[in-house]
Amino acid sequence: MRAATVFRVSLVVCNVPSEASEKAILMSKQIWLCDLTYTQQTVAADTIPMAIGCIAEYTEKHLGLTSKIPLFKYPEELIKQLENGPIPRILGFSNYVWNFSLSYEIAKFMKLMAPQMIIVFGGPNYPIQDEERQEFLAKHPDIDFYVVGEGEAAFANLVEALLENNFYVDAVKNLALPSIHCINSSGERFFTSKLERMVTLDEIPSPYTSGRLDKFFDGKLMPLIQTNRGCPFSCTFCVEGDEYYSKVRKFSTERVNADVEYIGNQMHLTRGPNARNDLFIADSNFGMYPGDIDTSKALRSTRQRYKWPEYINVATGKNKKERVIEAAELLEGALRLSGSVQSLDPKVLSNIRRDNISVEQLVDLGLHAKRVGVNSYSEIILGLPGDSKDAHFNTISQIIQAGFNIVLPWQLMLINGSELATKNSREKHQMDVRYRIFPRCFGSYQLFGKTFNIAEIEEVCVANSTLPFEDYLECRRLNLFVAIFYNDSIFSGLLKLFRSLKISIFDWILLLLEKSPYSSLDEIIQDFLEATRNELWLSRTDLENFYRSPENIQRYINGELGKNNLFYFRTLAITQHINTLKSLAKDSALVMLQKAGHNSPELDGFLEELLEYHSMRIRDVFVDSNSELIAKFHYDFLMFENDATVVDFSDVHSETPYVYHFSHSDEQKNLIRRNLAVHGSDSVGIARILSRVFVKKLYRDVEIA
Ligand code: SF4
Repeated sequence: MRAATVFRVSLVVCNVPSEASEKAILMSKQIWLCDLTYTQQTVAADTIPMAIGCIAEYTEKHLGLTSKIPLFKYPEELIKQLENGPIPRILGFSNYVWNFSLSYEIAKFMKLMAPQMIIVFGGPNYPIQDEERQEFLAKHPDIDFYVVGEGEAAFANLVEALLENNFYVDAVKNLALPSIHCINSSGERFFTSKLERMVTLDEIPSPYTSGRLDKFFDGKLMPLIQTNRGCPFSCTFCVEGDEYYSKVRKFSTERVNADVEYIGNQMHLTRGPNARNDLFIADSNFGMYPGDIDTSKALRSTRQRYKWPEYINVATGKNKKERVIEAAELLEGALRLSGSVQSLDPKVLSNIRRDNISVEQLVDLGLHAKRVGVNSYSEIILGLPGDSKDAHFNTISQIIQAGFNIVLPWQLMLINGSELATKNSREKHQMDVRYRIFPRCFGSYQLFGKTFNIAEIEEVCVANSTLPFEDYLECRRLNLFVAIFYNDSIFSGLLKLFRSLKISIFDWILLLLEKSPYSSLDEIIQDFLEATRNELWLSRTDLENFYRSPENIQRYINGELGKNNLFYFRTLAITQHINTLKSLAKDSALVMLQKAGHNSPELDGFLEELLEYHSMRIRDVFVDSNSELIAKFHYDFLMFENDATVVDFSDVHSETPYVYHFSHSDEQKNLIRRNLAVHGSDSVGIARILSRVFVKKLYRDVEIA
């Protein structure tokens, strides 16, 4: 009854041929799979949809389907196909925090148009407790089936059952298939247990070598590979912390190498002058297993033959340090090592069940990476249970001390599918949760003439029983200073000076925090804090109502709202206030040096020249990458930075000034041009570039004449 009523309503609103549509869908046996991303500000989730490719390959192979399952990444393309018809009988969506609302909006609308269409969702963004699952499915009644856990076999079984039962949904619901959750028309719920995960992943035919993913090599999307699935650790904030994922299952070396070769060749054949040239490896611990060395060798080979991948985004292993470093060395700087501690506070680590990861090994990774000249970063999550301002500050201090090049501070997101997001956990740790828009995940789309303004909302923990909100803001302020003055070493010579004189870099950053209110940087800091407060909403419904207005969604799309504040304000500081950064760095460095008993009268001049030298390498890189800059300095800064035996700046002094030439190589100009083309040249685009590219690669090359 409900379906018939809504279908008539839809005819009036949307001018769709009703009977033809209904008949078409009843005749159709088509299955479509979607892994959608927002596209209007930029391509938000910018990886090739390999996961749905695997599901399509497996389903076709196991059911002997003769018609291909089409895949969709861009909503515009999906909408066009739906509008042109014929529409599919089964429409499947992958569900992540960055695309659920967009996918559901389309699903809901299609269900209005064609109630016989079967809507299937699957993916990690799904609660783990039955009570919350019930709420989720009741709130989203247009989802007929939800596939939980590993998708291939479960989805294929579901399709097989639907085919056998002539698409009679309730009959299939009543079969209670494993890994398929649903509520039938009598309100009976089926939250079945999960199928065993596949042991031999090679059972899944490769969607790369079959050519299925060829259409996604469009210069905007990044290829994604997976060498294994699962994670042996059990972090409570992460979906993979669940026991279901604890065993690591692998693809064979031959399979991975064949994919790498295929992608390298495709990138080589299709890459235009402004196209991206990177790779995402979707492993949780790359480098921890022997096969990862083979993968690194295969990638090293494609780097030589196809000049791909230039960069590799991956989380490296938390144990087996030597092997992880060997993998990074093989890849010659294309890979950054991640020593993601999340926190170094023992109480926090125990609260999030991460005390089985060797903190010593992770911290040691930073030291090793530094020794062998490999880039490294460490991620830290603010607001975990038991976290506090002291714990957060101490963690960052130790990470800097360990020599990681980059500290990446995240806020605690409560992700469906993780233990920490359950009601019990929230109550236990008195989490104070706010809602905000997921960066870049918003848009305004039209389907059958109806406009829908849509955005993804994330839940962020901004205070808990041990971390008051005011301390949370103080931690965010520190995060911004670390991002500006430490990450990517914009003043790397100064960091070397501190290290060689055994002066704490973290103490210098604390001094910068104290001094900043008296500088012109303060405006940026205050704007950052205000933006940090303003992006948080107490009510999800209020935020939904806000973004749904046509004016407000445009404010998100044009970049006025919904930014990644940390990257955005850091970008503003570096690109527009380099002179202020320079003088603040110099004043506070002099204080630190004097405190440590270094009072040489030449220090002032050295610091002035050193900081100007670094400023010239980064100043206006996105505005003018073509011209050559020339300056004279009395020190050989190249030797000071690169020669480990030089610790005293007077050793590199010359009465006659050196003439320095600063310029970008052709390769760098190309890199800058491509990134501006992909991400845009406004502050939001540049913030995105700075979050993706190894920023040091943008610094002008230096030659002494
Ligand atoms: S956070 Fe990383 S180490 Fe922890 S469970 Fe998730 S994937 Fe594994």
